[in-house]
Amino acid sequence: MNINQHWLTDITQTPSPNYDERPVPTDISLLVIHCISLPPGEFDNFYIDQLFCNQLDPNKHPYFEKIHQLTVSAHILIKRTGKVVQYVPFDKRAWHAGKSEYEGRERCNDFSIGIELEGTEQIEYTDQQYLQLTAVIQTLLKSYPELSAQRITGHSDIAPGRKNDPGASFDWQRLFCLLNES
Ligand SMILES: [Zn+2]
Repeated sequence: MNINQHWLTDITQTPSPNYDERPVPTDISLLVIHCISLPPGEFDNFYIDQLFCNQLDPNKHPYFEKIHQLTVSAHILIKRTGKVVQYVPFDKRAWHAGKSEYEGRERCNDFSIGIELEGTEQIEYTDQQYLQLTAVIQTLLKSYPELSAQRITGHSDIAPGRKNDPGASFDWQRLFCLLNES
């Protein structure tokens, strides 16, 4: 896995219109881990792609009526199979964190990369997801020197009380073990 022009190579590129410029384009200094599944708890479909590309059909599921008009995105999605999809180049600001604060600094979208895991806050993530997440993070750490293993956080940590993802189902120790081994 490599990065070319702020896109990962050898993954699926599904460009989203939901991004804008970072205030400082080179300030990429935090990784934010999220989870998403659409409808909640259902996997292995294209609804997340459709949401991030403003193409989610509200008639397909009652839950979609509430969310189909959101303009949101993340840089990366890692599906249950380990398949990686990128929606926004890393030097642009994806819209994943919302109102948020990390170490006293607000608006985490300005300086972070958002990584979504296809999943829920209750269901264990897959082995393939941990392995691909590790590979993605290692590649990012090599390319963006202001990132580090110490600057990886969960959405729930930067938006406490408002967000709970990636949830108790995410094994942070396992991630850090994998990062140390590789
Ligand atoms: Zn989130």
